[in-house]
Amino acid sequence: MGKYVYMFEEGSGDKDRFGGKGAGLCEMTRIGIPVPPGFVIITDGCALYESSGKKIPDAIKTEVIACMGKLEKKLGRKFGDPSKPLLVSVRSGAKFSMPGMMDTILNLGLNDTCVEGLAKETGNPRFAYDSYRRLLQMYGDVVMGLKPETQEEIDPFEKVMEEFKKERGYKHDLDLNAEDLKELTQRFKGLIKSKLGKEFPQDPMEQLMGAIGAVFQSWWNKRAYEYRRLQGIPHTLGTAVNVQAMVFGNMGEDSGTGVAFTRDPATGKNVFYGEYLMNAQGEDVVAGIRTPMPISKLAEEFPEIYEQLLDVRKKLERHFKDMQDIEFTIQNKKLWILQTRSGKRTGLAAIQIAVDMVNEGILKKDEALLRIEPSQLNQLLRPIFDPEEKRRAEKEGRLIAKGLNAGPGAASGRVYFTPDSAEEAAKRGEKVILARIETSPEDIRGMALAEGILTARGGMTSHAALVARQMGKVCVVGCEGVEIDYQQKKLTASGKTLREGEMISLDGTLGEVYEGEIRTRDSEVISVLIKKDMSPEKAESYKLFKTVIDWANEFRRLGVRANADKPDQASAAIAFGAEGIGLCRTEHMFFEGDRINAMREMIMADTPEKRRRALDKLLPMQREDFEGLFTVMNGRPVTIRTLDPPLHEFLPHIDNRQAIEEMSRILGVSVSQVEEKIRELHEANPMLGFRGCRLGISYPEITEMQARAIFEAACNIQKKGIKVDLEIMIPLVSELREFRGQKEIVDRVATEVFREKGITVPYRVGTMIEVPRAALTADEIAAEAEFFSFGTNDLTQMTLAVSRDDAERFLPKYVQKEIFPEDPFISIDETGVGKLMKIGIELGRKTRKNLKVGICGEHGGDPKSVIFCHNIGLDYVSCSPYRVPIAIVAAAHAVLLQKKGKGKRTERDK
Ligand code: PEP
Ligand code: MG
Repeated sequence: MGKYVYMFEEGSGDKDRFGGKGAGLCEMTRIGIPVPPGFVIITDGCALYESSGKKIPDAIKTEVIACMGKLEKKLGRKFGDPSKPLLVSVRSGAKFSMPGMMDTILNLGLNDTCVEGLAKETGNPRFAYDSYRRLLQMYGDVVMGLKPETQEEIDPFEKVMEEFKKERGYKHDLDLNAEDLKELTQRFKGLIKSKLGKEFPQDPMEQLMGAIGAVFQSWWNKRAYEYRRLQGIPHTLGTAVNVQAMVFGNMGEDSGTGVAFTRDPATGKNVFYGEYLMNAQGEDVVAGIRTPMPISKLAEEFPEIYEQLLDVRKKLERHFKDMQDIEFTIQNKKLWILQTRSGKRTGLAAIQIAVDMVNEGILKKDEALLRIEPSQLNQLLRPIFDPEEKRRAEKEGRLIAKGLNAGPGAASGRVYFTPDSAEEAAKRGEKVILARIETSPEDIRGMALAEGILTARGGMTSHAALVARQMGKVCVVGCEGVEIDYQQKKLTASGKTLREGEMISLDGTLGEVYEGEIRTRDSEVISVLIKKDMSPEKAESYKLFKTVIDWANEFRRLGVRANADKPDQASAAIAFGAEGIGLCRTEHMFFEGDRINAMREMIMADTPEKRRRALDKLLPMQREDFEGLFTVMNGRPVTIRTLDPPLHEFLPHIDNRQAIEEMSRILGVSVSQVEEKIRELHEANPMLGFRGCRLGISYPEITEMQARAIFEAACNIQKKGIKVDLEIMIPLVSELREFRGQKEIVDRVATEVFREKGITVPYRVGTMIEVPRAALTADEIAAEAEFFSFGTNDLTQMTLAVSRDDAERFLPKYVQKEIFPEDPFISIDETGVGKLMKIGIELGRKTRKNLKVGICGEHGGDPKSVIFCHNIGLDYVSCSPYRVPIAIVAAAHAVLLQKKGKGKRTERDK
């Protein structure tokens, strides 16, 4: 049988064996930090305890007794010796922190005689009896199981104490004197005996074994079990048990206790940050009964101790190479460190600390990069709420709904329920929030003018979420409990009603909806890169941002492109570091100004000639768009996709009488003709219907027009001396012959245009892989397709048979019930959809060895999916412009994790 128990000086920083707390204590002891001596029973002991019928096995018992002997020798005190009693604490400590989930017992070793000894030794009987009282209470509860009988009842020990205080006419615990506390210990023992029929054990070793067993047992309590389930921590890990000599912060005015972060956890600034209380125990700081002092005050009160703490801070950071969160106790002017662990921090702080630690020589760039969660960069990009105002809004009960955080950032404005009214209000100079039950392409103009978008329904790849992210808009979707009434122009949530034009605020980072205004401000990164109204030298957080992106660019292999349809989106993408456009959704270009009318004319046309005439009107507009895009992209690759959505999306809704009448007036056709067309195009399941290349196959004129616009624009721009790197992409292909027909049109038009213009522009024609059949027949398709781009939005929808527009009705429940580990529209379902991707790549490259393969579904901006894309050998990811920085850092992580031998990153790798 192996060794289970290690003195701190024998242990190591191996969290798997020693648990987080134990590993910290062992490491600190090794590097000479003042830690009260003790030992760890390793995590393997937990399973052994369980398999030994919940009894402490003899092997562990023997080792514990031996270690207690060593502890006694070290301290010159004896366990159970009334003249100089040794007291210990017993604490849990699993590999991953499980705050407050498991049990702790303090002051073990006290009994009826030792308490007298402690009183004499310290000359402080009040302290001695208070310590004994606390032991009885904790031991009675945790080890002996004396708990409230019902959930409504208070703790039975607290009840006895309250009654006692009432008898004596006391208000506070501090009113209790030594005699009172002595009396209380009697009552506590009596309570244990009367309720449990057993005595509190006077034998310290029996106490210790009981406590160790209880801590192991607490790994299995309901709370801890549920916490692990939610956090995805394996139940098999087990907890370690730490037995440590007690030190006391409540031994008088030269004793105290505190907590500190080695740097500011909110801003990451390199300042020592913490608080402390004199003559107090750890729980007094946490309970908030007395207000702690800022740590800087300690420098005045006890300068030597403060100096020692600064020294500890430096040593710990150099050793652990990370910001630490520590607990300390001062006992009679002597400093002890009781715990150290990596400190929780905001995204901003994580980045600041990583950058500073490289400058200070503590971390190397690659180590620092892995300390930054890619999504934390968001915090540097998004407008933010004024923190004071937001706190006030919360206090005033103005948080009225919660939904999915589809577009991060903060936005405040007047609520409007139709794109038209939103547009009118925006033109009047109002800040607008567009609130819809769900959005469709008809809403795009309203969305573009809005500060933020709220939808009552919809998931993370709903139209609203996708468009909002691409535009960089704040967006909250799928808000349960939000009712929107278009007729009455009102929104209700949490019993409150907001009418059109009233103020509303959205926190798209957290998915929160507030009634009323909360002031916001632009982030520095946006001010420098996009608004260009701030100089980079002055913008501290911009400098941080740039440093991190520069580092990531040094390491990553995966290309990063953006999904962008317009020049402003494209230039934002470049400012954020995108190397090209991976998806230009041309349909988004049909909603600007009066283009929708030409589009509708094309849809209403009943002969190819009429259709061509309408398309001729669209041609110059599309050409102009592409010229804009090519100019901004200045030689970087641009992937343009031919028309994809079903045509009905360009027509008014059948119930929208006003819009139908307007359309009939503008196009000079009858209302009934419009209605007939709407009915004709109606599909039961449009997402699986007449869309994608099926449109171009049925109406080749559409593809012809788009190809002509693209090539004319490319030639015009190239003639100006600007290089064009062009890729044309055919959507929703599932069969080679579909692709072939569309490619023939593109190639024919290219030849025509090149002849007319007298120059040629190099281009490639490729396909989206977004239908499972396309992935499965990728070897055939790659014979003619010159590149692939995975459309994982559709590929997920079709592989899982989950409609991307309606998934929110049941998908959250699937995640809750752990049927899916997470929303497959957010993070790639690696097992299923990922397998199809692997097959697609393998088959595609079998036919075309150097086939370029990318991804342009929303997953291209999800860090975990980006790492997956790297690992399966994609060439690039493409995501909305505002997620480009996240993808860049995630792509660097992919390389660094692979080097470390870890293909994946989990939250707990930090
Ligand atoms: C996709 O399906 O992943 C894709 C990028 O196309 P869209 O979202 O436009 O259907
Ligand atoms: Mg698609």
